[in-house]
Amino acid sequence: MRILYFGKRHFILFLLSAMLLLSTLYAHDATHKLADKIIVVDASHGGINPGANRPGVLEKDINLAIALELKNILNQYGAKVVLSRQADVELSDECDNEKVHRDLVARVEMVEESDADLFVSIHANAVANAVANAVANAKRHGAEAFFSAKSETGKALATSIQTALCTVTQASRTAKAADYFVLRRNKIPAALVEVGYITNIEERLLLQTPEYQRKIVEAIAQGIYQFFNKGNLQHTQSFDSKARGIYRSAWLIAIEVLGSFCPPDKTAASIAESSAH
Ligand SMILES: [Zn+2]
Repeated sequence: MRILYFGKRHFILFLLSAMLLLSTLYAHDATHKLADKIIVVDASHGGINPGANRPGVLEKDINLAIALELKNILNQYGAKVVLSRQADVELSDECDNEKVHRDLVARVEMVEESDADLFVSIHANAVANAVANAVANAKRHGAEAFFSAKSETGKALATSIQTALCTVTQASRTAKAADYFVLRRNKIPAALVEVGYITNIEERLLLQTPEYQRKIVEAIAQGIYQFFNKGNLQHTQSFDSKARGIYRSAWLIAIEVLGSFCPPDKTAASIAESSAH
């Protein structure tokens, strides 16, 4: 009986040690970088709203291609992703002056309904057609990340994404505050990424290739991961601390279980003795 008792206790301790080891490995596994996170990826414009456009290029198409690829990578990191759209559709079928506003409201409501941790909106940029500075405008290029001036976590997120984007686009930009509706109205960390300028001929061509889209997407995903990794999030715990919490709870339960097998006022010998009756 005594052998059986010690065997069971050692087995439980072995099991707990294995759980602790696995939790450490899991927390540092790249495929689970963003486990337990819910991220809304907003493919801006769509349907009747093409966004910026130049002959043969519509912003809404670039946004969707990048958003779909971003979903794939974030899924590989373990995050749940909610896409604002998965096809060439607008989010409001109202065809009046309110339609753009309703479309934007729908994107923010999606965040509230999904209880998301983070929001990132994908756009492509364009310089307005202007005779003055036309040459300089045509050369303007580079990805840019924006945040709401009222959100410190939004600023941290946009800065993290911008840092990663600079390594891809060779741009030396910093994230900027901007008063965009989807940033202003979001209660969670939110960033808006202009992936590049379709008014720049070279960048326009790059933005249409899957290879360059993949580079942009990897940078955005890396920026999001770095944001969480630096502990910027108050909305939910970071994965590492949550994993530690779960396994600490497991330890406490195990200690309770062990305690019920071996009450502190009874020795193993006395348990063996009493069980013999
Ligand atoms: Zn746009």
